Amino acid sequence: ATEKETYEFQTEVSRLMKIIINSLYKTREIFLRELISNASDAIDKIRFLSLTDPNALSANPNLNITVKADPTNRILIIRDSGIGMTKKHLKENLGTIAKSGTSEFLDAMEKGKADMSLIGQFGVGFYSVFLVADRVVVASKHNDDKQYIWESTAVNDFSIAEDPRGNTLGRGTEIQLYLKEDGLEYLDEKRLQNLIKKYSEFINFPIYLSVHRTEVVEVDDEEDDKPADTEDKPADTEDKPADTEDKPADTEDKPADTEDRPADTEDESAKKTEESEDDGDLEVEDVTEKTESKPKKKTKEILVEEWEQMNTQKPIWTRDPKNVTDKEYEEFYYSLVKNEGSPPLSWIHFKAEGEVDFRSIVYIPKKAPADMFKKVQDYSRNIKLFVKRVFITDEFLDFVPKYLQFIRAIIDADDIPLNVSRETLQQHKTLQLIKRRLIKKILELIANLSRDEEKYAILMKEFGTNLKLGAIEDNRNRKKVAKLLRFPTSAENVNVTSLDDYIGRSKKGQESIYFVTCTTIEECEQSPFLERLLARGYEVLYMNEPIDEILVQHMPAYEGKVFRNIAKGDLTFGDETEDTKKEKELLKEKFSVLVDELKSTLSEYVDQVDVSNRLTVSPCAVIAHEYGWTGNMHRIMSAQAY
Ligand code: ADP
Ligand code: MG
Repeated sequence: ATEKETYEFQTEVSRLMKIIINSLYKTREIFLRELISNASDAIDKIRFLSLTDPNALSANPNLNITVKADPTNRILIIRDSGIGMTKKHLKENLGTIAKSGTSEFLDAMEKGKADMSLIGQFGVGFYSVFLVADRVVVASKHNDDKQYIWESTAVNDFSIAEDPRGNTLGRGTEIQLYLKEDGLEYLDEKRLQNLIKKYSEFINFPIYLSVHRTEVVEVDDEEDDKPADTEDKPADTEDKPADTEDKPADTEDKPADTEDRPADTEDESAKKTEESEDDGDLEVEDVTEKTESKPKKKTKEILVEEWEQMNTQKPIWTRDPKNVTDKEYEEFYYSLVKNEGSPPLSWIHFKAEGEVDFRSIVYIPKKAPADMFKKVQDYSRNIKLFVKRVFITDEFLDFVPKYLQFIRAIIDADDIPLNVSRETLQQHKTLQLIKRRLIKKILELIANLSRDEEKYAILMKEFGTNLKLGAIEDNRNRKKVAKLLRFPTSAENVNVTSLDDYIGRSKKGQESIYFVTCTTIEECEQSPFLERLLARGYEVLYMNEPIDEILVQHMPAYEGKVFRNIAKGDLTFGDETEDTKKEKELLKEKFSVLVDELKSTLSEYVDQVDVSNRLTVSPCAVIAHEYGWTGNMHRIMSAQAY
């Protein structure tokens, strides 16, 4: 074996680790969620590779995760048969290359915007092991390398060495946590059972926990103390998951068949016998009175170790929506979004049939991320694509248009070829059909939500801008999206209005949808342009968002009614009479001297000075040319200039 090499943690990582190891954070149990999630990701990866490379799984065809406590040595061992890590991966992924999330997480923690439980979202979940352990040993075997051991006691450095035991894993990763004094509770079987059940419910691979139970066996006087250990091979037991028959790799639910997997080898059985005896194996005389005439037999209690599967549910999206509770949908959402702070605002669970078959659950989050429009790149991860329950990818850049990228979804399709590259996959016809159906469903979901005023207000606050972007960009669905928009309005007792409702209230013969732009609603209300319209009994929409003006440029009309900016050009209402026209002529004459004076003084700044009938109380207003930018638009454009 090669020499042990020592590396320093990248500075930020080291800072993070110090915080973690000294953390008094209460719910340290999240480390287990992070490890299970990493194990599951790793198995997803190897399974994905196996779709195009038939040999990818041969070193270890069983895809599963095992957890085992070793109380004697105070170690908790988590093992997976995932893709594993090469020496280079170990060095880079677990210490020397800081992800952008490292400093983001540190910042967020310092500012009190994040707590420890959000660590997974920042892509540094692995380090949470140091919440409970002060020494961590990771053995990993990747198909392209030998088995290596990464080891660290946190803080400054870690070491990597070839594993002196050779290849014991076949393929995958084994993580040994040497628990801190105050972390010993994680050796407790019941505690582990509860935690793993909680965190593994939506993991698509079997997770086994090594559990012990006592069993009373009869012993022949002459017979030796062979334990009844035949039941501890999970693959042979009846708790085989119900949903595996349709999984592509049908061998995957056997926890272990490599040499030193705890349950499967003779060595282990032997060790177990020892352990059983160590643990106070009781030898008792039969105490139960038997009515039968059988001769009395000697019995003894033995401790049996077996692998018990912790997750037995079918994937939630394959279940009938009628039988899934809200709580389950919420829990699934958390598993999907790596424990984002708040529960989802709404969701839809559906099965599409016809030109394309797939199942899907789509969620609308309750909060938009702070940097929604900046970090479009990250959004790819919000949609997870499965094919026949096999995870394929969440690395789509444009599965849904940008404006809908706030949704979280899982899609499980039937007729997508598996043996193609991701690139080819993205172009695939079926995927295009799925996209279209999905968008339709998302818009339906939002439309349904609009009946719940309270929730819709949240949606508008968080994602209203997205919908406006949709009305701008999505030519195919513009009309549908426009129906979902809401605007503050001058109408009495109306908080926000849809365009349909505006039209419903409009005056007879009204051909336009009037709006005023501004930065706040108060500013809209005080706009001098408003007076005339309100006086005439027209309703005016308040467009107080920068995107609004761009919206009306792209959507100049709705249901045949033209959007009219009341701060622009010459406003006519269609109800002017000859009298008003005459009156205007008279006023023009009366003020001609003033107008000429203003024209020459302001020639540098304005195009035109005119007498108008658009104002009632205010003496004058600066307005934009019909085809020019309003003051508001100037603000938007100069804000975007850098
Ligand atoms: P994330 O899972 O968000 O990438 P983590 O800090 O949890 O961040 O893990 C860091 C990286 O370490 C992973 O991206 C992966 O490359 C690697 N890794 C961690 N655990 C495993 C594992 N069990 N098998 C293979 N690779 C792993
Ligand atoms: Mg992780």
